[in-house]
Amino acid sequence: MTEKDVVIIGAGISGLSIAWWLNRAGISTLVLEKSPHAGGKIESSKHQGYTLEHAASMVTNYRPEVNQFISDAGLDRIKIHKQALSQENRYLLHKGQLLTVPTKLSGILSHRIWSLRGKTRLAMEPLIPKGGNADETVAQFIRRRLGNELLETAMEPFVAGILASDPEKANAYAVLPRLTALEQEYGGILKGIIRSKISGKRRAMISDVFSFQGGMQSLTQRLADTLHLSSHADLLCGHSVNSLEPVNSLEPVNSLEPVKGHTNQTKGWRLTAKHSRGELSVCARHVVLASPARHSSEMTKAIDPELSSLLGGIEYAPLSVVHLGFEQEKIDHPLDGSGFLIPGKEGYAISGNLWMSSIFDKRTPQGYALLSSYFGACRTPHAIDYSDEKTVDMVLNDLRKTLNIKGDPHMALIKRHSQAMPLYHGSYYDRCQNISKHLEQHAGLHIEANYIGGVSIRDRICHSKANARKIIHQLGHQPNPDYVEEERLDPLWQQS
Ligand SMILES: Cc1cc2nc3c(=O)[nH]c(=O)nc-3n(C[C@H](O)[C@H](O)[C@H](O)COP(=O)(O)OP(=O)(O)OC[C@H]3O[C@@H](n4cnc5c(N)ncnc54)[C@H](O)[C@@H]3O)c2cc1C
Repeated sequence: MTEKDVVIIGAGISGLSIAWWLNRAGISTLVLEKSPHAGGKIESSKHQGYTLEHAASMVTNYRPEVNQFISDAGLDRIKIHKQALSQENRYLLHKGQLLTVPTKLSGILSHRIWSLRGKTRLAMEPLIPKGGNADETVAQFIRRRLGNELLETAMEPFVAGILASDPEKANAYAVLPRLTALEQEYGGILKGIIRSKISGKRRAMISDVFSFQGGMQSLTQRLADTLHLSSHADLLCGHSVNSLEPVNSLEPVNSLEPVKGHTNQTKGWRLTAKHSRGELSVCARHVVLASPARHSSEMTKAIDPELSSLLGGIEYAPLSVVHLGFEQEKIDHPLDGSGFLIPGKEGYAISGNLWMSSIFDKRTPQGYALLSSYFGACRTPHAIDYSDEKTVDMVLNDLRKTLNIKGDPHMALIKRHSQAMPLYHGSYYDRCQNISKHLEQHAGLHIEANYIGGVSIRDRICHSKANARKIIHQLGHQPNPDYVEEERLDPLWQQS
């Protein structure tokens, strides 16, 4: 039996980030990870001379906490930036043709993707009265404020291609926290952008896009190494947590009494984890659930059935990432951008394609290009079951049409994720609030995972800092001055 201040279940970027913030504050921390390696979804691999990303391929950042984290974790030395070529354009498929996407409002109003009617509707946005509610979907929110054309041509491909989600089901407050906050605060999106720009409140949408030498796995590997080297923190891989119960005393260790029902008198938690040589029991004052929602639901079934059911009801999207490598001369396109997104109404199999060899240097053998496509998710969830041959054929068919590719790929590799991304579907705002209320009844129980507060690595790092700060405070430690709360725009964050 071991004792720790904090035990974290799961060593994906969520678990590793909160462990990093806690370790930095001198809190004794243990991370238990089921699989043999840390990193969770984040995985980079080498194959036939290509460096492949099987989940996150880059960090898109505009928040100072992330810069602080990267720098203090010693990751600046291996950080790599987007190549100039990929910064030139962003593409969108429109009527079978790749068109560059404008990033400025003036560009949108003169672009041929949108009809005069669509542009007029967009220009009317400041006149639309403030409305909406916590249950509003992304589609309802965008239709109401910006019109249907903008939804179908711009927002739908973003939500489907980047978040693997469906705008008709995704909760606007959870998926578009910055846009919904602008409406709530300023009465409209355009008014909000202009007024917050004038007041200097608005930060650039994306100021930095980066990865690391060797790929994104270098980030999680570095965080794991920091825990191994720490005198008061540790990470045990190959340890699958299979039980969690509240206890009313942390000492003496051998006479711990399990607490039934609500846990106001809880002093701590006892966990057991299976590993190759047997079972490990650990006691901790705080437990952080950083595993996927289905596992957290299992862990809380006996403690709080309602909380367990809220967690168990979170849907995930299945998704295949299809990596194809080609000789550059076989592609009749300059690949002068980061890739393209495809609106659902275009009827293609893939939702988006990243030009990884344009984005980052040294990802392919000399003279080759790497194109990574996203296939399945909410548009075609059953596509995850297609054979390798059918999957590659369908993706290749789409790429041949859009990029004029001649001949066959030099390399093909598929990574299937049966639960790629949590979908913030339905009354997600209420679900998060209810989860939060239930957690408050269980002293020392926390959630730090991508189904609350955003799926991106940026959000994971920022959210975990806020959660770490709360734990540090509850443990009676004086947080370091730079643990002060940053400005938070995401309304879901205030609940957690
Ligand atoms: C295809 C794809 C592309 C993406 N692209 C980007 C991108 O470009 N940029 C970006 O910012 N984000 C991207 N994301 C999102 C981002 O990668 C994920 O949201 C994030 O990595 C999830 O981290 P997590 O720690 O919350 O969850 P996970 O990575 O799922 O980690 C959970 C961990 O819990 C462990 N676990 C489960 N059960 C147990 C148990 N019983 N005991 C102990 N441990 C357990 C698991 O093994 C796992 O390691 C992408 C995601 C996908 C799938």
